[in-house]
Amino acid sequence: MISEQEYNEVTASVNKELVAQKDLPEASIIAIGVLHKALDRILARPLFYYDSYELALEEVERLEYTLQGLWGFPQDKAYHRYWWQMKGCECPKMDNYDALGSGKRYYNADCPVHKHLMEEQQ
Ligand SMILES: [Zn+2]
Repeated sequence: MISEQEYNEVTASVNKELVAQKDLPEASIIAIGVLHKALDRILARPLFYYDSYELALEEVERLEYTLQGLWGFPQDKAYHRYWWQMKGCECPKMDNYDALGSGKRYYNADCPVHKHLMEEQQ
């Protein structure tokens, strides 16, 4: 068990409206809060925690799938929205936000975070 103070601290950034709507168990809310903090840390300092953007992005993707599962959403890559929020990313944010659910991703060819993905496509 965690104290009320710890609970409030860990779940501060969790969407409370969605929690109420989904009627999530407390353990899921805590897990979502913990994983969000991990996600925020990686997004803010990817190369501090990982040897390459590629590895940092893999972890972000795993966290996004896990979070979708905890929220009770389908585990669908088309709805991932954190990959373009990594520090250093120069991909077009609004275009990618608007494309959520379509499976399309818009990259900037000069983005230091995602350029390896474009090299793979060639
Ligand atoms: Zn990018």
